Amino acid sequence: MEKTFLMIKPDGVQRNLIGPIVSRLENKGFKIVGAKLMQVSEDLAKTHYQEHAEKPFFGELVDFITSGPVFAMVLEGENVISTARLVVGSTNPQEAAPGTIRGDFGLTVGKNIIHGSDSPESAEREIGLFFDKAEILDYNLINKDWIY
Ligand code: ADP
Ligand code: MG
Repeated sequence: MEKTFLMIKPDGVQRNLIGPIVSRLENKGFKIVGAKLMQVSEDLAKTHYQEHAEKPFFGELVDFITSGPVFAMVLEGENVISTARLVVGSTNPQEAAPGTIRGDFGLTVGKNIIHGSDSPESAEREIGLFFDKAEILDYNLINKDWIY
């Protein structure tokens, strides 16, 4: 089954949104197979966001993502990479649809609450950056037959 990486950013953690966000992800039917509260180092932030290294907002982005704890997750599900991006919403919360996490909880692109991997390649890379193999669990959910 497909896996993706999601991370509630420091603004989401500080605003007590871990619970409401995780609740939405569980309600959607995704399975949480890894999760932890962690402090992102400057090195990890720069590696994670390396595709944006030349952008004018890169320094601000690294400062922000390292400014406090994040809640990192690995989710599993059918087409979870693209479906989780839909649940997350557009990058700019001012353009994100109501009903999405960014559309309902955010106001500015610099503090847009949550990250989600954008492709199978990014998902594999980001899961590997943030999680050890032993931190990702293989288990069954009893309600799975009512989702698939
Ligand atoms: P996404 O997180 O939706 O995949 P991007 O990969 O394009 O979006 O950008 C990564 C992150 O960089 C965004 O989530 C946002 O926090 C930040 N970002 C993107 N564009 C800007 C911008 N113009 N100004 C400030 N921060 C930005
Ligand atoms: Mg991205």
